Amino acid sequence: PRLDYKSIIENEAYHVQNIANRKLPGSGNLVEKVKELHQLHSSLVAGVNEIRQERNTLARNVKMAKTSEDRAAALQRANSRSKNIKDFLAIQEPMTSGAEIQLLHAGLQIPNITHPDSPVGPESAAKVLSTHGPERLPTDAARDHAKVGKELGIISFDEAAAVTGSAWYYLRGAGALLEQALVNYALQIAIKHGFTPVIPPDVIKADYAARCGFAPRDEPDQHGKVVHHFYHLQGTSNNLVLAGTAEIPLAGMFAQRTFLERELPARVVAVGHAFRSEAGSRGAVTRGLYRVHQFTKVELFAVTEQNQSSDMMEELRKIQIEIFGGLGFPFRVLDMPTEELGHAAYRKYDMEAWMPGRGGWGEISSTSNCLDFQARRLHIQYRTVQTSNKDGLLPQSDEADKRITFAHTLNGTAAAIPRLIVALLENGVVLNQSKQVVELRLPSCLRRYWLGNDSLGPAV
Ligand code: AMP
Repeated sequence: PRLDYKSIIENEAYHVQNIANRKLPGSGNLVEKVKELHQLHSSLVAGVNEIRQERNTLARNVKMAKTSEDRAAALQRANSRSKNIKDFLAIQEPMTSGAEIQLLHAGLQIPNITHPDSPVGPESAAKVLSTHGPERLPTDAARDHAKVGKELGIISFDEAAAVTGSAWYYLRGAGALLEQALVNYALQIAIKHGFTPVIPPDVIKADYAARCGFAPRDEPDQHGKVVHHFYHLQGTSNNLVLAGTAEIPLAGMFAQRTFLERELPARVVAVGHAFRSEAGSRGAVTRGLYRVHQFTKVELFAVTEQNQSSDMMEELRKIQIEIFGGLGFPFRVLDMPTEELGHAAYRKYDMEAWMPGRGGWGEISSTSNCLDFQARRLHIQYRTVQTSNKDGLLPQSDEADKRITFAHTLNGTAAAIPRLIVALLENGVVLNQSKQVVELRLPSCLRRYWLGNDSLGPAV
């Protein structure tokens, strides 16, 4: 990782406030720590460099000596300092690398800067930017997706509980077809907007998750309890984990890459499986498909130039509104507040669907502009081309060649399948007077992606 310590130190007051606004666990005094460690590291580097320079000068004096007397004298001077220099470096060099590692460790915990318009505060401080779709249905427990899904025979939890555990599920018949149709529906809209489809690995090195701003290491939370966010694969040599989101393998796909300006923005869309241990977050409101351990997710990801990421954020928002708008349920767009931004996001838009069975709005997507936070940790860069060389050719001069900048990365959910099934079932089920399920109305936009002739298909 290449972190911008200078900017952190120069904007100390900003970062102290920013960390406080985000309420991230264990981040008190971080800026002070970075400042101290940076000072320590710089002085150690200066000391080591000075001594190395002395060693070079002594050696050069020997080499450049014109007479044999001069040479003997220079050699003697060099030899007399040699042991001291060696001893000094033997201690100082490891100390310098040690300080560098400590500095990096502290620096990596400093969250991204925050968009000036992001509300400050907890989840409840989110600002509603827009609301879409039809009128909301009144809350009705008979619309609960888990109940409806069981009655229709398209979702089962009991067998999955036996085979795997609680919060795992089977989708069957129209349930399985619905997942496939939703995946292809979202994928097709993303492809139409220039996103290249990708099937990424669902298993990743823990290090890549950390570089994307997630903490897959089992770190204690603020109460000292160890939280396992990722499923770790035992017995693998590379510390492999199951990906919590395809954002990680997608970002990783571009690691160590230097783009040409004309190659940006780069847009990709993945169909991946997200695995979440969801330690400690289960309760009554998360029953059914709402919070599960494995789900299929269509994920949008973009790499942009620094001055393009705000526009890309709006582009992602429009694509998501197109996808969810087509599905016919009420939903709204939120500008998420500081305590919901995690480490990596500079700005985050969540979308929530109205879920009348659950009796509330439920998050269906999340979109983040991470600026260069991930790019610095994954070395995703681009080469700026001189204005006089707008034809996209490589710059000719060495100076221009050196103008390499960190890119910006963004990610957003195109379809988190279980949450979409919740919204479709709870809004689309037709009940009779005695609250029994009569039928399920699915949006007609899914028709062309529907395999087979299941009687529970979308409207024609
Ligand atoms: P995140 O990557 O955490 O922002 O999640 C992206 C989207 O996936 C969220 O907006 C939800 O729609 C969905 N999601 C997150 N966690 C779960 C889960 N445990 N079960 C089902 N869907 C989830």
